Amino acid sequence: MTTPVLLTFDLDAEQLWSARDPESANKPVWLSQGTYGPNVGLPRILRLLGRYDIPVTFFIPGMVIENHPRAIESILEAGHEIEHHSHTHTWSDGLGAEGELEEFELGYEAIVRATGRKPRGWRSPAGELTPNSIAYMERFGLDFSSNLFDSDSAHLLADRDRVTDIVELPFAWVLDDAPFFLYSNRLPGRTMSAPSAVAESWIREWDGISTEPGTHFMLAMHPQVIGRHSRLWALEQTLTHIMESGNAEFLRCSAYADRMRPLLLEERNGQS
Ligand SMILES: [Zn+2]
Repeated sequence: MTTPVLLTFDLDAEQLWSARDPESANKPVWLSQGTYGPNVGLPRILRLLGRYDIPVTFFIPGMVIENHPRAIESILEAGHEIEHHSHTHTWSDGLGAEGELEEFELGYEAIVRATGRKPRGWRSPAGELTPNSIAYMERFGLDFSSNLFDSDSAHLLADRDRVTDIVELPFAWVLDDAPFFLYSNRLPGRTMSAPSAVAESWIREWDGISTEPGTHFMLAMHPQVIGRHSRLWALEQTLTHIMESGNAEFLRCSAYADRMRPLLLEERNGQS
């Protein structure tokens, strides 16, 4: 039995900060935390992935795609896929139906322009879905989602009582770099974890998940957060542990969703 390993990176750059603070245009230090992602963190991450020949998925807001063309080129040259992560990274729960639709449209178009490929998957910038999000995913032909925390296994996403054809690939806060490492002097109550503690959390999650059939191991990371040497050490410790276990299969999200969709549809149609 192999367990799929899905590494995902949300390249939010300055939008992570500007979407939280309308005054951010006048706060260069606040914004510069985001600039570190595409400019410094990303090249390090691409080198690490290249050393182990690991394919991954990037979720990127349209505005980051437009503002950082060289970063986008380097991701595509390395053979990774780019998926939908809104346009401005504004938290969709405060946008209203029209505003959220515009975010879907602009982010979608930016990916098509930059990559020549239609995005397949969507991750919310807010860590939340609105009552319209799933209908918008369907409207734009997005056939996988990585948003929920309800399972360690792929399943079909339900819009209220209706089970859709969209494959949900859940993750968890414990498998995300932000709760451990995202820090700013203006985010109250935040502290930074030791990289060794993070490596231990991720390795122990893998040791358990990889014994349970039908699960996957997904990490959600941010180049501006994980792209520091101490944190990349935690990631590399985790990756080498996973590789040494001999039962991992590294996949892009779209490839894993394609593998699971027919099985999940068959299961759903058999039940109805
Ligand atoms: Zn994000």
